[in-house]
Amino acid sequence: MTCQNSECDFFLIEEGKDLIKNGRNSAGNQQYFCKHCRTYFTETKNTPLYNSRLGRQKVERICRLSQEKISIRGINRVTDHHPATIIRYLRLVGEHAKLLTSHFLQDLDSDRIEMDEFWSFVKKKNKHCEGPYDQSYGDRWTYTAIRSTTKLMIAHHSGKRTDETCNQFAYLCSLRLRIPESSARISIATDGNPQYLTALQKHFPKDSIDYGRVIKQHKKNRVVGIIREKVLGNPPLASISTSVVEGYNNKIRQRISRFARKTASFSKTIIGHIRAMDLFQFASNFIDVKGGMTPAMREGITDRVWKWQEFLTYHFQL
Ligand SMILES: [Zn+2]
Repeated sequence: MTCQNSECDFFLIEEGKDLIKNGRNSAGNQQYFCKHCRTYFTETKNTPLYNSRLGRQKVERICRLSQEKISIRGINRVTDHHPATIIRYLRLVGEHAKLLTSHFLQDLDSDRIEMDEFWSFVKKKNKHCEGPYDQSYGDRWTYTAIRSTTKLMIAHHSGKRTDETCNQFAYLCSLRLRIPESSARISIATDGNPQYLTALQKHFPKDSIDYGRVIKQHKKNRVVGIIREKVLGNPPLASISTSVVEGYNNKIRQRISRFARKTASFSKTIIGHIRAMDLFQFASNFIDVKGGMTPAMREGITDRVWKWQEFLTYHFQL
């Protein structure tokens, strides 16, 4: 444990520094006293469980249910928590997940990355949007970047399907990836969407990108042919594929109720939409096990499978 008072010199810095245990509060949480800044705080400070009226296990249950394609109303029926309570906790844990993701996903390998975007909508479909108030609602495209070898979700970003959204997405990816150079190149595959080319050139050094595109030819909604083309650098033809990211985006629709097609559980607010992806990203990278390993373990970011408890009670240490 480190001091959780943001004004203290030892904020998040040194394990145990000037910190003494100070009994437990009525909720059973360990309390601490920092001798340096002379403040008291509980072990849940700076976690989603801080001042929480629900115990850790109940919050964990809400999180777990949300990852099994159960809507807010569905979680309400199973747990008897009020929908507003469930929404509040899902936002808190989503924010926590986002912080942890930014903390752990840094300086990643730039190898074998697939990018794609999928459609969903917030509040109402485009054809029902009228007037300036509705401009932020309607279609919402979620861009995702996955490493095909480890299945780590590197980044997600959502917005209208515009160059600007794709640019912001590429920028976010560039923050998390090691800056490529001519000897350690970045290799990326996408579908035929032309937004990626300009966005990638803007945020990565031009002479260190190996970029290939998969162009699908459709006939009556069926794929009748696939063309792989080299766009930048010299990616091996066999590596130009988007099947992993397409499968991954399909998994998101299978797991998170609001992304399922043709249901009434679609997102009602933008922030709920974004936080749901944040929580999914963390759970999928650190908690979901396949073959005894999580994507974060395969990447070498962590040495263990994370439990929900660890996620909910995690404190950063700088
Ligand atoms: Zn302190």
